[in-house]
Amino acid sequence: MDLDAALAVLADHKAPAYRVEQMRQAITREYIASWDEALTLPKDLRAALEEAAPVRELREDDLQQSQDGTIKARFTTHDGYPVETVLMRHGDRHAVCLSSQSGCALACTFCATGTMGFGRSLTTGEIFEQLIWAARTARQHGARIRNVVMMGMGEPLQNLDSVLHFCHLANDPGGFGLGARSIAISTAGWIPGIDRLAKEPMQLRLAISLHAPDDVLRSRLMPINRRYPIAELMASLQRYRKATKRRVYVEYLLLNEVNDRVEQAERLADLLHSSLPGGSHVNLIWYNPTTSDMTASPPERVNRFRAVLDKRHIPQSLRRSKGVDIDAACGQLAVRGVGEVRQAARAQTRPA
Ligand code: SF4
Repeated sequence: MDLDAALAVLADHKAPAYRVEQMRQAITREYIASWDEALTLPKDLRAALEEAAPVRELREDDLQQSQDGTIKARFTTHDGYPVETVLMRHGDRHAVCLSSQSGCALACTFCATGTMGFGRSLTTGEIFEQLIWAARTARQHGARIRNVVMMGMGEPLQNLDSVLHFCHLANDPGGFGLGARSIAISTAGWIPGIDRLAKEPMQLRLAISLHAPDDVLRSRLMPINRRYPIAELMASLQRYRKATKRRVYVEYLLLNEVNDRVEQAERLADLLHSSLPGGSHVNLIWYNPTTSDMTASPPERVNRFRAVLDKRHIPQSLRRSKGVDIDAACGQLAVRGVGEVRQAARAQTRPA
């Protein structure tokens, strides 16, 4: 929803100030899907809002449900860009994985989104709408959204204005009311964004996708490493930690015979002890098949890797993916067509 357009409608109608609050409640507490459902607002105002600032800007194209209950929604923006959102169900505490961009420019080799290319960054409204969709869907199962992770399509720190605006809206105690610590932002290592987050007073969680303990391998897996190598990345995380005192979550995808050797676990432990002493937690992630030729580490290699981290006193946990059967798990989000949409958009703006 375009908030400015909605406020302009209220101003045009000379609506009293309390209408803003009613509007906010309708969206963030009732999770309305259209202004028609906002029964506290007068009918003519609802019609004008629906015309100028529809609640839903994203078109829902497809819904898939995994055997484990995970639900993946595929949306299209008003200008044709695909977006995916994943709702993960854990009893009555649900979590949602949001996209911050359509596609991604960073082209990590293990990630399906990276193969799509970059479409465009999403607006605050488009990110918030994914959250409201998730809240509405969770409510159908008698549950609430307890956690938000910005780990869907895109690099959130390359769209930080919209992402931070979204976090403030989600955290607003008079609105959606999600605790800041329940919102995690995951980055591939975009240092200017990390430095900005270090100055952010909200207690957001920061997760860094590391996936390799040395530059040669990391540059092969994640081209961003050529621009921001590990030493610079670690220096930025030190600045972040010094400024915020917050723990850094280190994401590490276990790839069979690529990054799961004992020496690599030792090297990861060295790196974290020297750069973030006592200030990190490693989330080991079971790799999900994508179009890349990499495969998941078998359980014995996973256990060996974990044992090294335990021995070296590096806090770690293993995350089992949800929604693998519907391509909703980490690194699997991808919709074909970003390139075609971008080409069409360029053709439209090209002078005749
Ligand atoms: S892992 Fe994240 S940053 Fe890398 S290509 Fe995929 S979406 Fe982009």
